[in-house]
Amino acid sequence: MAKFTDFNISKETIQAIEALGYEDATKIQAESLPLLLEGKDLIGQAQTGTGKTAAFAVPCIEKINTGISATQALIMCPTRELVIQVAGELKKLTKFRKDISIVPIYGGQNISVQLRALKNSCDIVIGTPGRLMDHMRRKSLRLDQVKYLVLDEADQMLDMGFRDDMKDIIGQTSPERQTVMFSATMSQDLVRLMERYQNKAIKINVTGNKEQSQQIEQLYFNLKSSPKLDALKRLLKEYNVKSGIIFCNTKMKVDELTKRLVHEDYIAAALHGDIDQKKRTRVMGAFKAGNIELLVATDVAARGLDINDLEVVINYDLPRADQDYIHRIGRTGRAGKKGLALNLVTGKELSQISRIAYTSKLTINPAQLPGVQGTETLNSDSRPSNSGGSGGGARGRFNKKFGSDKSSSSGGFNRGPRSGGGSGGSRFKSSDSSSSSSGGGSFRGKAAAGSNKPRRSNFNKAAKSAG
Ligand code: ADP
Ligand code: MG
Repeated sequence: MAKFTDFNISKETIQAIEALGYEDATKIQAESLPLLLEGKDLIGQAQTGTGKTAAFAVPCIEKINTGISATQALIMCPTRELVIQVAGELKKLTKFRKDISIVPIYGGQNISVQLRALKNSCDIVIGTPGRLMDHMRRKSLRLDQVKYLVLDEADQMLDMGFRDDMKDIIGQTSPERQTVMFSATMSQDLVRLMERYQNKAIKINVTGNKEQSQQIEQLYFNLKSSPKLDALKRLLKEYNVKSGIIFCNTKMKVDELTKRLVHEDYIAAALHGDIDQKKRTRVMGAFKAGNIELLVATDVAARGLDINDLEVVINYDLPRADQDYIHRIGRTGRAGKKGLALNLVTGKELSQISRIAYTSKLTINPAQLPGVQGTETLNSDSRPSNSGGSGGGARGRFNKKFGSDKSSSSGGFNRGPRSGGGSGGSRFKSSDSSSSSSGGGSFRGKAAAGSNKPRRSNFNKAAKSAG
C-alpha cells in the first residue's frame, strides 16, 4: 500500500490529507500521483468511488503558483453535483493553504455570485461546460493561463452532449497545459477526441477489479412476464433493505417507481437530470444521512456521485450500456464488506445479463423470488454438492431451467476464477444451513445472515402491503 508521503507532496497538503483521514493512497491515486506531479498528460480509468478526485486534485494544488493572479487550473465536470463535490474536496485538501482560491461554477446558482467570485482572484475553477461557456461569452472568465486542465467523468460529458463546449473550452486554455482526464467509463470516441488535446498521454486502467466484484453477491431473477414492482417489493422485504439504490433507465420510470414506492410507505426518493438542483442536493444529503432508504436513479444522475457502501444495488432495468453494470454494482460491498446486487430480468434482459457476466467475467447467479413457488422440483444434480438439501432449493430449480453454463455447478453465468469450487453456490451454502429444511427456496436464512438489525416500522408496513 502506497502512502501519500511516498510522493512529492507538500507538507500542507499531506496534513490536509491526514485531516481527511486518508491513510493509504488508493490504487488509482498511487498510480497517477507520481505521473501527474511530474507533469505528464494522463488518461485514468477507475470505478466510481476509488478516489479519482484526490488523484487529480492533489497535483492540481501542488502546481498552483500563488504569485500569479490568474486562473491556472480548470476542472470540468458533467454535473452540478460533481462540481460541488469536487470543489468540496479541493477546499478540504487546501485546508492549510488559505492562499489558494477555488471557485465552483455551475448552472442553478445565481450568476452574480459567480461573477463576483470570478472578479476576485480564482486560482482553480471547477465548472460544468454549459456554465463555463456562459462565463466565457460574458468575458468574465479567462482561461489563457490555465496550465492544468482536468476532464472529470469525461465520458459522461460526451454522453450529455457537451462535445462542442468541451472543445471550445479546451481551445481557450494555454497550449502548454497539462491535460488530465479521468473517467469511470471510456469510449473509443472519447479516446479519439482526447488524442487531439493530449500530448503523449499515459493510460492507467484499474477497473475490473475482480477481487472487489467477487465481494459482491450478484443474483438475477428471471421474472419472465411477471411485474417488476411486485418482485422488487418482495426483495426489499426479504433483504430488509435499509440503504439501497434502484436503477431505472428513464427519468419517467424513475418518477413512476418512486411514486409507487412512496405510496406504499417506503422512504424513497428520485434522482435524475430533470429534478432541480436544490432538490437533488437535499435528496443526496438525506440519503447519505440515512434518512432516505431507497434512491431511485438513472445512470447519468448517479454516475460519479460519492455514494458508496450501499447494502444493495438493484437493477430494476439492466443498464442500456453493458459497461455500466460494473459501475452500478461497484457501489455496494466496499471496505471489505460483502455487497449485494440484485437484477430484475425480463424478456431480452435474460440474454443481456448472460452477456454482461461473460464479457465482464462476473458470476451472476440465478435465484428465485421469495414467496414464489417454482414449477419444477429439486433435482439432485442441480443442487450444490454439499448443501445438505436445505434452502438451496430455489437455486436448484433455477439451475435446471437455466443451467446454460455447464461448467458451473451453480448454474450461474460464471466466467470468473473457479476458486472455492462451485462459484456463488458455495456462498449460499453457509447461509442456507440456517434456513428451513423445506427446500422451498426461502431467502430468509440468507437475509437474516446478512442483517441482524430489526426492521424499521415503515418496512414492516410496506412489507405487509406487499403481501
Ligand atoms: P471517484 O471520483 O473515483 O468516484 P471520489 O474521489 O469521489 O471517487 O472518492 C470516493 C470517496 O473515497 C470519497 O468519500 C473520498 O473522500 C474517499 N477517498 C478518496 N481517497 C481516499 C483514500 N486514499 N483513503 C480513504 N478514502 C478516500
Ligand atoms: Mg469522481
